[in-house]
Amino acid sequence: MTKNYPHIATPPPGPKAQGIIARDRASTATCYLKEYPLAVARGSGAMIEDVDGNRYLDFMAGIAVASTGHSHPTVVAAVQEAASQFLHICGGDFYYESFAALPERLAKLAPGREPKKVFLSNSGTEAVEGAIKLARHSTRRAAIIAFEGSFHGRSLGALSLTASKYTQRSGMGPFLPEVYHAPYGDADFIESRLFARRLDPKDVAAIFVEPIQGEGGYIVPPAGFLKSLRAICDKHGILLIFDEVITGFGRLGHWFGSERYDIRPDIVTSAKGLSSSYAALGAVIATDKVMEPFMGATSMFSHGITFGGHPVMCAIALKNIEIMKRERILEHVRENEDAFRTTLAQLLDLPIVGDLRGTGFFWAIELVKDKDTRETFSDEECEKLLRGYLSTALWDAGMICRADDRGDPVIQISPPLVAGQAEFDEITGILGEVLTGAVELMR
Ligand code: PMP
Repeated sequence: MTKNYPHIATPPPGPKAQGIIARDRASTATCYLKEYPLAVARGSGAMIEDVDGNRYLDFMAGIAVASTGHSHPTVVAAVQEAASQFLHICGGDFYYESFAALPERLAKLAPGREPKKVFLSNSGTEAVEGAIKLARHSTRRAAIIAFEGSFHGRSLGALSLTASKYTQRSGMGPFLPEVYHAPYGDADFIESRLFARRLDPKDVAAIFVEPIQGEGGYIVPPAGFLKSLRAICDKHGILLIFDEVITGFGRLGHWFGSERYDIRPDIVTSAKGLSSSYAALGAVIATDKVMEPFMGATSMFSHGITFGGHPVMCAIALKNIEIMKRERILEHVRENEDAFRTTLAQLLDLPIVGDLRGTGFFWAIELVKDKDTRETFSDEECEKLLRGYLSTALWDAGMICRADDRGDPVIQISPPLVAGQAEFDEITGILGEVLTGAVELMR
């Protein structure tokens, strides 16, 4: 079949989208900022079609989620089959096969050979909440170290760790006590500043870290950083928690990013690509040593969520794992990441592109005011560039991706993991044209 996208027939929002947008604006909460007036009708592979017949190349994948592409027919069939058997019974109270099978699979896929146990949640945020509770309960310590620029979710516990943009925290405090933030990439800060002056390491339950910071701007840490964290944790009996909600499930070419960096975390959180977007599912995967009460803890770890590990979601995640293996998706990412980087690197010729950073199928194009000095844009200039221009220009050209300034202004690129050279060329072409327009605009 010939590819029929990107294709913009009616500049969005078309008449049907306008109707949906008006109803949405009238009754949904004011917290939804919305990226663009796209009202989705359907998706297939790396294509999204809106209600007015415009078709987009999706290089955002629902914020790094739709790994196996939109509406993979095998997954759709799994949804139908699971839904026709039973819709809900609560895995916290009763047994069903998929609720046993998924943890069994995840425990084996997670890095390290030691036995593990898995808690299933409805989202990444809930996985992080579960991990915070588990770490405190397991160690009987209160303090948690997280990093500047991190994103771990927006419930109050998770938000206490999140530090990627102050607006996400504004007006929401007070936050969880005993949360300390260190600069991302600087493990020495923990020993030489935090532990030397403010914090007894014996009070620290866990260090929470993203192997690559996602929402904070796709920041790749310096070599050795993650290993140093492992060493600090081992030295002081602290749990190392990798938040792999965004980096897991193939985004970095492995089931978990920690595998890529050869680190064994004590706890891993997962969501997003775990179900490849077909349902809300998250997981906390912890070594038996952590899950079983230890370090003096005697009471049982008590936690539960009505819908966590819903039968349809478990069926989807199991099918997703099967597809990823059958279609060799991890291998596809590893085999194509260099080509992806090399293709995108053509954009480095543009005066506005300061850097290209990332790994696997997880890339950010950093936009700078001055390439030589790496001077970044002021807040007003960012407003003009990102919200005034890029947030619509890219999409008007038929490409779904995100321009953001949580850290430095960047264009975030996280396609479905099935994308290949044709798509890399296509988006690089679109980005080239749109960014050339940005150079003109910001002159
Ligand atoms: N942790 C990380 C690293 C994330 O990127 C996100 C979402 N972007 C979350 C947690 C929260 O996940 P969710 O939106 O599924 O609750």
